[in-house]
Amino acid sequence: MEKLIELDKKHFIHPTSSIQQQQENGAKIIVDKGEGIYITDVNGNVYIDAMSSLWNVNVGHGREELAEAAAEQMKKLAFSSTFSTFSHKPAIKLAEKIASIAPEGLNAVFFTSGGSESNDTAIKLVRHYWRIQDKPERRKIIALRRGYHGVAAASTSATGIPEFWNMAGNMMTDFHHANTPYENGTDKAIASLRQVIEAEGAETIAAFIAEPVQGAGGVLIPPVNYFKEVRKVCDEYGILLIADEVITGFGRTGTMFGVENWGVRPDLLSFAKGVSSGYVPLGGVIVSDEIYNILKEKSKGTLFHGYTYSGHPTAAAVALKNIEIIEREGLVDNARKMGDELLKGFGRIKEELDIIGDVRAIGLLGAIELVEDPKTNKRFSPDLQVSAKVIEALHNRGVICRAVTYEGTDIICFAPPLIMNLSQVDSLIERVYGAIKEIREELT
Ligand code: PLP
Repeated sequence: MEKLIELDKKHFIHPTSSIQQQQENGAKIIVDKGEGIYITDVNGNVYIDAMSSLWNVNVGHGREELAEAAAEQMKKLAFSSTFSTFSHKPAIKLAEKIASIAPEGLNAVFFTSGGSESNDTAIKLVRHYWRIQDKPERRKIIALRRGYHGVAAASTSATGIPEFWNMAGNMMTDFHHANTPYENGTDKAIASLRQVIEAEGAETIAAFIAEPVQGAGGVLIPPVNYFKEVRKVCDEYGILLIADEVITGFGRTGTMFGVENWGVRPDLLSFAKGVSSGYVPLGGVIVSDEIYNILKEKSKGTLFHGYTYSGHPTAAAVALKNIEIIEREGLVDNARKMGDELLKGFGRIKEELDIIGDVRAIGLLGAIELVEDPKTNKRFSPDLQVSAKVIEALHNRGVICRAVTYEGTDIICFAPPLIMNLSQVDSLIERVYGAIKEIREELT
């Protein structure tokens, strides 16, 4: 362990992490293996992976079937290009499969290696869509505050968390942000969206992008009518709607795709994470028949956009098997049922402990907000580091979770694997209760 920590400090720049903290403290957990909802570190400590690692290991760890699908494909054809006129069976079959489970009217898929690339692709595709229709001025993108869309150039710009823009200075131009319905509800959020559209000029806007449930922003579940209103506004102004389903896709919210909860059809849908449950990197964008028809008719010559690993055959073979598992084991239904149980458990904790504000879950995507006064929703002073302490207390009880502290919030997020059973939910709830209770007592 000591040797690994030394080498980690010396050679490994970690993504989305504090370099100084890493140098001072070293890696905290060096994970060795995973099985089901659990991961085990190199010292043999076992944890509930209550975030499915990065909201992505939907079918749980240690699935030999997925390893076998990868091995079989690698032995036959590990890699081959899909550029230009090349194609291969795994990518064709995966595109067909995804079209068959996607919301109606979305039937054509562009593959990438992850969520950031998917959103950059979606943003470039919508700009291309308008350019080939002689409307190049339609290039602005509207996104939501607290939204997270990734770290490539366009996806960083679409992200609504300023810390991500500041890391390297200004990113791309022509990105604007509207308020979420998180604090003030649908009407005010829609008014904010309209205001941005009117201020910028509807005829200059290519698309609006949003997550069906904002994940990294703190698991912010919109009011049930929010996306219907968004769809109306987009239609009124001729603006395309991109659903970023990188977290919500493939069963996470108790439906195959998150937008199904809201009864709307996006024009483009970006996905990653759950499509392969993280066993291999893969993502993509599904486009509507209307968009695909315009592309077929008007996109002349080469579409100058493609990743070496677009439609990677091994990744496609693993994703096909992963979707087969999700369907065969009824994991979408299970996510909905276990999500209801998780939410009931959160409710019980809230009744017992007086530092809990809102609790929420939709499928196996949930959150607990910690507040100084639940009656007024008064937040804790950031100096108290309440959520960091709860994460530490959870860690000591064998639970890996994540806190969101943007804008002074203390939100503990949950996104466990979709295979969870009732006794595992109960065990998680018991540990969460113990951890929050311990910190509650420390505060007095
Ligand atoms: N979009 C959403 C909603 C995400 O949660 C993420 C990652 O967490 C991304 C995009 C970026 O995906 P990736 O990290 O695979 O590039």
